[in-house]
Amino acid sequence: MTNEPIVVHSFINGQSFETAKRYSRENPTNPDEIVGYAPVNTREDTIRAIDAAHEAFSFWRWTSLDERIERMERAIQKLKDATPELARLLSREHGKALYDSEGEFGVSFMWMDYACQTAREVLSDDVEEHDGGKTIISHDPMGVVSAITPWNYPISLSTIKIAPAILAGNTVVLKPSPFAPLTVTKVVEIIAGEFPPGVLNIVHGDADVGVELTSNPKVAKIAFTGGTNTAKSIMKAAADTIKHMTLELGGKDAALILPDFDVNDERAMRRIVISNFLTAGQICMIAKRVYVHRSIYDQFVQKYIEAANKWIRVGDPFNPNVTMGPVNNLRQKKYVQSLVDDAKSRGCEVIPLGQILDKDVFEKGYFLQPTLVLGAGYDDPIAVDEQFGPTVPIMPYDDEEQGIALVNNSIYGLTSSVWGEQEHAIRVARRVEAGTTMINTAAVQGLDVRFPFGGVKQSGVGREYGKEGILGYTETHVINVPKNLELPYIPE
Ligand code: NAD
Repeated sequence: MTNEPIVVHSFINGQSFETAKRYSRENPTNPDEIVGYAPVNTREDTIRAIDAAHEAFSFWRWTSLDERIERMERAIQKLKDATPELARLLSREHGKALYDSEGEFGVSFMWMDYACQTAREVLSDDVEEHDGGKTIISHDPMGVVSAITPWNYPISLSTIKIAPAILAGNTVVLKPSPFAPLTVTKVVEIIAGEFPPGVLNIVHGDADVGVELTSNPKVAKIAFTGGTNTAKSIMKAAADTIKHMTLELGGKDAALILPDFDVNDERAMRRIVISNFLTAGQICMIAKRVYVHRSIYDQFVQKYIEAANKWIRVGDPFNPNVTMGPVNNLRQKKYVQSLVDDAKSRGCEVIPLGQILDKDVFEKGYFLQPTLVLGAGYDDPIAVDEQFGPTVPIMPYDDEEQGIALVNNSIYGLTSSVWGEQEHAIRVARRVEAGTTMINTAAVQGLDVRFPFGGVKQSGVGREYGKEGILGYTETHVINVPKNLELPYIPE
């Protein structure tokens, strides 16, 4: 692949759709380099895409499940063939290290393969003969799905929605984030090429396009991943037409280190560091605050710094020794820096972590020095707000009750992790308020696409992945066939 800028278009009703206005996407490793141009769609374009999806739904919903699965499997194969090139494009527009981009495609395939393999079991009718007659429960499609995704995992967070929605007989209009619009458009074009026009469409833009996608009466369901504040606007926009929603939102995931955690377990220490710094900390399910029992706090911090200095290697995403690239965009870099500066101004100790491998590249791009923050108060912004970047606070706690209370004292509840002797950790995990709690691992390392994923409290509504992640795109339709047609409800 050359490094010439590419141009992507929106894709509506089976055709590339060119717009008058475009915007450029720079390479976060070298912001002077334009990786490509994406369209700026209008609300009118968005209405066209929704109309096309609505029209396509009228026939797509009646296609057989076999046909949908066959088409999806062909699309997955084509995507797999294209992955080496697409992963490189993703690293260039996103900033994540190449192994990380390849890993994102890997997770997407795990899920899409699972969805195809499980669709027959999940979507087939449930039929029950009983003493009152027969009941058929069918899992009907909903209609047009607006899928709105963030920049941090543009491929997996789009395919997590596209695959189950289409397999269940819905049609989709996807809107990716303006901070990573290029690779996902290529992915959508490949998938859409295997389906009739209108089944899968993509439009680009920001809030104005988003508002149309979330308020248009022809849209039946919103599948959104992004920030909690954006979700609040979406809920309001969707209220007038009572739309179904799956919302995967922000988090401030806690890692709770119990006193029986072995600080000399180097593999476990490496897992903790990765759970804080993978993708430069820009993952919803990254461990964003760490509470360590005071009896092992000093040793833990020392071993943590040793592990972080070994495993965090910052530089060019295409350098095979690099484990961490730049932050995706300047706005995010400034925000994360402001949280670290605030912590410093409150008297926290800020310790630089890791090795900077490519110094010139580091100076030029949207890089941040990875940092550990010690001495933060439990209510300081660094301990409460979602950083979504390469910094993490580690704080001591004194007893189990306090540790659990600290973990639960958050508006969020996406994932969490408990580290220590396994049975002890499971007992503690049962008391944690979160959609997922992992034992002795955290973040993507402990993700299993066969099981439902989502948040409690302000981290979300509904679940993706697992069987629930397919059923979430269906309406439960009960067809009752009573044996006795004239039950005596009304007196003769
Ligand atoms: P964001 O909320 O700013 O944007 C997400 C998407 O919403 C983008 O496509 C954006 O253009 C669109 N959007 C913005 N305003 C809109 C509106 N009014 N109506 C409709 N759409 C609108 O989020 P971001 O900065 O791209 O991503 C970071 C956030 O996403 C973090 O909070 C992170 O925790 C969260 N996230 C959550 C998960 C999860 O599974 N729970 C996964 C990844 C990221």
